[in-house]
Amino acid sequence: MFIDLSRISPEGLDLALPEAELDVGASDGTWEGPARVSADLHVARSGHDFLITGTFTGRLNLLCGRCLERFQFRAEDAFNLFCPVAATAPAAEEHELAEDDLDVTYVEEGKLNTDQLLRESLLLSLPVQPLCRDDCRGLCPRCGADQNQGPCDCAPVGTDPRLQVLKKLL
Ligand SMILES: [Zn+2]
Ligand SMILES: [Zn+2]
Repeated sequence: MFIDLSRISPEGLDLALPEAELDVGASDGTWEGPARVSADLHVARSGHDFLITGTFTGRLNLLCGRCLERFQFRAEDAFNLFCPVAATAPAAEEHELAEDDLDVTYVEEGKLNTDQLLRESLLLSLPVQPLCRDDCRGLCPRCGADQNQGPCDCAPVGTDPRLQVLKKLL
């Protein structure tokens, strides 16, 4: 959705974006789109610029960094962004130069691109090492078996519960 920032009143604008599918582009083996994202935004004027505040919730399939299984990640975060629109206003002679200096990619020609805003916010909220669960056992370094499914044949001696019982008896 594109919001024409020049039309935002001094009181600002409240935007409730219902849950919708969001294209999050190609991943490097960390996530698999599309995501589903909903958000509540408030866009307020700050001089000639804008402040975007609010919260978003997103769901996205990630690949576990240990066992490589796909799992659903739920992101929930608040954001608080300063949006220097004055510098990106079109028709200014130094437009291209100013745009190069800014890394605000969700404002194009005075319009707020909410899809792009949510895409960036969601991807920034992803964990550095995604885990399907905190105690994921990962893959066996020797045979590659998923150790969440139970011990493989090359499991080190001592983890076999039958041996644990034996140890207690000794
Ligand atoms: Zn895992
Ligand atoms: Zn193994």
